[in-house]
Amino acid sequence: MIIVIRKDAGPEKLAKLESWLKDRGVTPRVSVGEQRTIVGCIGDVSRIDEGMLSAMSDVVASVKRIQEPYKAVNRQFHSMDTIVEVPVKGGGPLKFGGGNFQVIAGPCSVEIEEQVVEIAKAVKAAGATLLRGGAFKPRTSPYAFQGLREEGLRLLSIAKEETGLPIVSEIMDPRELEFFDDVDILQIGARNMQNYELLKEVGAHSTKPVLLKRAFSGTIKELLMSAEYILASGNPNVILCERGIRTYETATRNTIDLTVVPLLHRKSHLPIVVDPSHATGVASLVPPLSMAATVIGADGLIVEVHNDPPHARCDGAQSLTPENFGEMMKGIRNVRPFACR
Ligand code: PEP
Ligand code: MN
Repeated sequence: MIIVIRKDAGPEKLAKLESWLKDRGVTPRVSVGEQRTIVGCIGDVSRIDEGMLSAMSDVVASVKRIQEPYKAVNRQFHSMDTIVEVPVKGGGPLKFGGGNFQVIAGPCSVEIEEQVVEIAKAVKAAGATLLRGGAFKPRTSPYAFQGLREEGLRLLSIAKEETGLPIVSEIMDPRELEFFDDVDILQIGARNMQNYELLKEVGAHSTKPVLLKRAFSGTIKELLMSAEYILASGNPNVILCERGIRTYETATRNTIDLTVVPLLHRKSHLPIVVDPSHATGVASLVPPLSMAATVIGADGLIVEVHNDPPHARCDGAQSLTPENFGEMMKGIRNVRPFACR
């Protein structure tokens, strides 16, 4: 339920309305916009009498029941784009959303110091603004490389120190949060999109930006409900990520669903980035899909880059070399002015 507040209603009247809603077990979320102030009602609104609210005409301009089960992430509650900021040492914050565009690049997994530092320097020189690298790796096989864990995060911190690039790394378990102090964006991977304990943990115990990836079989509604968990637990800094979904097609690792970019912009105020690496699984397909994602209006990209793809411990086939990444970035800069929105 959304309540549009009268322009001439002062803060006292608004506060009275908020306490009236709270008395009925509903959490009001006030959003003050340039044009109007609206109150989103979170919780069980079935017992709220719309007629009663409309009768409070000194404060209520109109009342609208909405169908979607997600509220905090809903564009209807928050008409302005959310801009997620990532602090940068010695500079202004990096911004996702609201017309800002960032490129996150780096290896699938952190392997050794020389590898991650070399890649970090190369992607920075090519124009990437954040460094990615997995330390806690969700692998299909228990016999596959599982990541360097805390040591991997330590190596990422060295690369951050050397380049100044903020770092993005995947967290898989709520108990790992203590190791992520120096990580700037917490990634929640496709396999954990519905790990509700993890979503609640990064919502309640962190205000760091969270990059939330869509599950292989996650619907748009399920993705938004997962984001809702994080916002409802107290962390508004969520960046959504399309990384391909599983379909009947086997020629590519997943099927990229670029429709979600404009659709999610309509449904939600949160920024959305695209991961063409996991979406395709094929390095040569990454540049054209990155261009397409940019033009369709994505707020950023997350791309896997490795200095020696044939010997990568994870996802070599989809990793660009630094040279290929540099070429791709030239193309991205060329098409950016034509991005939709
Ligand atoms: C990754 O980014 O390395 C990763 C495992 O991604 P996803 O969760 O999208 O498979
Ligand atoms: Mn990967």
